[in-house]
Amino acid sequence: MEYLWWGLVFSIGAIVGSFLNVCICRLPVGESLAYPSSHCEACGQGLRPVDLVPIFSFVFLRGRCRYCGCRIAWHYPVGELVTGLLFVAAVAKYGVTLSALRTVLLFSILVPATVIDLKYKIIPDRLNLAGLILGVPLIFESKEVFGANAAGFLAGGGLLLLIAVVSRGGMGGGDIKLAAVLGLLLGWKYLLAALFLAFMVGSIAGIIMIVFKLARMKEPIPFGPYLALGAVVAALTGDKVIKWYTGFWGA
Ligand SMILES: [Zn+2]
Repeated sequence: MEYLWWGLVFSIGAIVGSFLNVCICRLPVGESLAYPSSHCEACGQGLRPVDLVPIFSFVFLRGRCRYCGCRIAWHYPVGELVTGLLFVAAVAKYGVTLSALRTVLLFSILVPATVIDLKYKIIPDRLNLAGLILGVPLIFESKEVFGANAAGFLAGGGLLLLIAVVSRGGMGGGDIKLAAVLGLLLGWKYLLAALFLAFMVGSIAGIIMIVFKLARMKEPIPFGPYLALGAVVAALTGDKVIKWYTGFWGA
């Protein structure tokens, strides 16, 4: 029975991941999510349910469109697989609770945010707005959760806005809004852990890229993927990060 349960959680995640792939294609170019229905990006041929089974269709079709034979973008199977695994991790950590629901919503925002930020160097407003609208009802769990997560929203947006002002535009508007949504869904404690991890990994990666001349000093680096990485680690192991960090400073 246990396997069946985790298989179900994974499948729900993979199906959500399949929808997130549609968001990845359509949000950056301002297309509707509902219309037209799924079609091949190259030949425009409408896809049948058998072409849309998460992961399996990609494997069966060997990564190519059934109709025109062109390659299917890498983010389709990867997005489905990663979202499925993230759903399993969230439910394994929090059980069937509102915390788990906030966590899977968080992950469902982060998957498209990461791919879109890497591809287009933007985080669409519609994505952050979806996180806000779906997230707000989920923080009315108790007085404590409401307080911690409302504070997280203000802290996430406020801190990154402050950095944007101080660095004169070194932080994009999409990153500021995403950090606010992360705070809303994580609460202020895990948000701080997520930001700490994001800045740490982001600066190390930035230094490496400058040393190896993969990026220049002045060039803005997409910060969304680091925020996403920090948020996933914080959501799944936040208490450990906080313990390690406070221990590190002898607090
Ligand atoms: Zn095609």
